[in-house]
Amino acid sequence: MDRERIRNFSIIAHVDHGKSTLADRLLETTSTVELRNMKNQMLDSLELERERGITIKLVPVRMDYRAEDGVDYVLNLIDTPGHVDFSYEVSRSLAACEGAVLVVDAAQGVEAQTVANAYLAVDQGLELIPVLNKIDLPSAQPERVCREIEEIVGIDTTDTIHASAKEGVGIAEILERVVRDVPPPLGDPDAPLQALIFDSVYDNYRGVICYVRVVNGVLKAGEQVLFMALEGDHEVEEVGVFRPGMSRVEALGPGEVGYFTCGIKTIAEARVGDTVTESVRPAAAPLPGYRKVKPVVFCGFYPIERDEIQQLREALEKLQLNDSAIFFEPETSAALGFGFRCGFLGLLHMDIAKERLSREFGVDLVATAPNVVYQIQLTDGTVMEAHRPSDFPEATKIEEIREPFIRCTLFLPEGFVGPAIQLCQERRGVYGSLEYMSPERVRLTYDLPLAEFILDFHDRLKSVTRGYASLDYEHLGFRPSQLVKVDILINEEPVDAFSFICHQDAAYHRGHGVATKLKDLIPRQLFEVPIQAAIGKRVIVRTNIKAVRKDVLAKCYGGDITRKRKLLEKQKEGKKKMKQIGRVSIPQEAFLAFMEVS
Ligand code: GDP
Ligand code: MG
Repeated sequence: MDRERIRNFSIIAHVDHGKSTLADRLLETTSTVELRNMKNQMLDSLELERERGITIKLVPVRMDYRAEDGVDYVLNLIDTPGHVDFSYEVSRSLAACEGAVLVVDAAQGVEAQTVANAYLAVDQGLELIPVLNKIDLPSAQPERVCREIEEIVGIDTTDTIHASAKEGVGIAEILERVVRDVPPPLGDPDAPLQALIFDSVYDNYRGVICYVRVVNGVLKAGEQVLFMALEGDHEVEEVGVFRPGMSRVEALGPGEVGYFTCGIKTIAEARVGDTVTESVRPAAAPLPGYRKVKPVVFCGFYPIERDEIQQLREALEKLQLNDSAIFFEPETSAALGFGFRCGFLGLLHMDIAKERLSREFGVDLVATAPNVVYQIQLTDGTVMEAHRPSDFPEATKIEEIREPFIRCTLFLPEGFVGPAIQLCQERRGVYGSLEYMSPERVRLTYDLPLAEFILDFHDRLKSVTRGYASLDYEHLGFRPSQLVKVDILINEEPVDAFSFICHQDAAYHRGHGVATKLKDLIPRQLFEVPIQAAIGKRVIVRTNIKAVRKDVLAKCYGGDITRKRKLLEKQKEGKKKMKQIGRVSIPQEAFLAFMEVS
């Protein structure tokens, strides 16, 4: 394949600005997919993606295109996800490209992920082609949006393409511009093989399928290859390209994008970001890899049926094969039994994982409320990480507690600035900056504790701005905070499952909330039961469950002994589902109500 005739590009955009629809039009126009086989959002292959209308996994596809100059080109398009949780997927796909089509909704204008993704592309040195999409909408304001692109993204918009992916306007022009403006890939076919693994997926039949971009050399079936971050070599079984289904080819040369299989069984071996080279003549150095992503939001997954734990483990393993950003380890909970502590890149990521587990693997599970990891500076000078309240040492041993912070960038109409600022303040936000992008639109930045953010920040923001705000965030690392661990004591005994970490100013309020909730959930016992919230030894909230005996026989007059026995047996069964804490029985529902994400 002649390098000069290859173009590798991505489409980047804020969510819903029309990437996937545009990708469909490109596939159609280049006859990559026959019209009769065309479905909407062709590249969104996960069932969940189709339903939610969002792209989660990146998908590469190869198109043949005869340009106006009469030359046949090969265009490799890599569609990317737009949601902030998946920005690691975006940077991976960008590393395999020389250019990017930046799609901006002509009615909505520049949003948070427009900027975030454009910056990622600029950082990678990609050529950007700005496209105003949805130009068919009566509310489209091309001039205003072009000004926003110039001012915020900082790229020239004189050549901006006006398009409507829906009506097929501007598609030919986009293809021509990709050919003209995106540089062909560099690379030496005679040099030792260097191919970047930019993604890998697990297939039940073929094992791991590595998605690669060849940079130098040639990748052929039957060859022995080496993963540079690992020991040992593997024989390449199949090499191919995406059209968009997998289609076998002889070889992949420099600049080409495709896949290969080599009989490996775990994604851990085919690490995304690793370089593949040939065994007989290994390259001197690997290609620059990727920043390894670290999960930041954690929660527990427990099977609803307790004997499904093994099934859940297998499902998690498989899911991890397709999504290396997921982390999990076994844990046990007083209330829920055996399960797994799982780590994710964000709430949407967690939500998607949960849903994929139940849909694709048929495991029904309970997810505990998400939390973050804390860093604790101990008085003896060491630093430890705490994943859950029970990891916290005694208060006297703690020098300082640090929590993860994010820098949140909000894009919103000017009229909603007040409510947005109020929300950020309530969430312990530290004001950063406020800029007018145009007289009507504002960019606001705040530093927020991640714990406050994952609570329900996004939903609240949407509601106070009536859906008009978009946001992006980056991690800032750990910062000291006045945090406390609040213990919940039932009948004087601390119950681990109910303790929580919060800011000291919020301790009373939240402690009170939990105590009241438990008071309603725990049935009255034969004796009075105090419920307390305490920080260390200091009790901050106290409430009581009054003593009473529930007389199940009360309604049972007359002497029907079998009926009485039945009722007593029923009561016994009810007790089995209770957990005994000291002398108090706590029903399973109390734990669930406390832990489950509502
Ligand atoms: P993505 O999230 O960027 O992949 O966006 P999608 O391609 O899924 O499109 C989001 C929504 O915008 C869908 O309902 C599309 O039908 C719609 N849409 C996409 N392009 C256009 C367009 O050019 N004009 C109009 N009116 N709607 C469009
Ligand atoms: Mg999409």
